[in-house]
Amino acid sequence: MPTPAVLRWPIPEPIRCADGHIIACPTCGDTVRLVLGMDLDDASDAPSAMSCPAGHAWFEERLPRHWGALLLAELLDAEPGIFARLEDLQHVHGGA
Ligand SMILES: [Zn+2]
Repeated sequence: MPTPAVLRWPIPEPIRCADGHIIACPTCGDTVRLVLGMDLDDASDAPSAMSCPAGHAWFEERLPRHWGALLLAELLDAEPGIFARLEDLQHVHGGA
């Protein structure tokens, strides 16, 4: 499976999904600054790629990829200038 080009972003707040469950790292249980892989062009229901600050990586079934695409779209709406910085941000936060 090819790895899609995505923005990997550490979410500062705990992530609450649609059913009220707080997303936690399955390995260490961390709930903040989880890195979510977001792809604007991926509106599928496939599990989102995530990692925690300790570097554990997993696919989160409760967060479909269209959720991340929506989040990224809202982010870009709120702060259009961020688009110019995406590469920098990817450089800083990528590769976890
Ligand atoms: Zn972890």
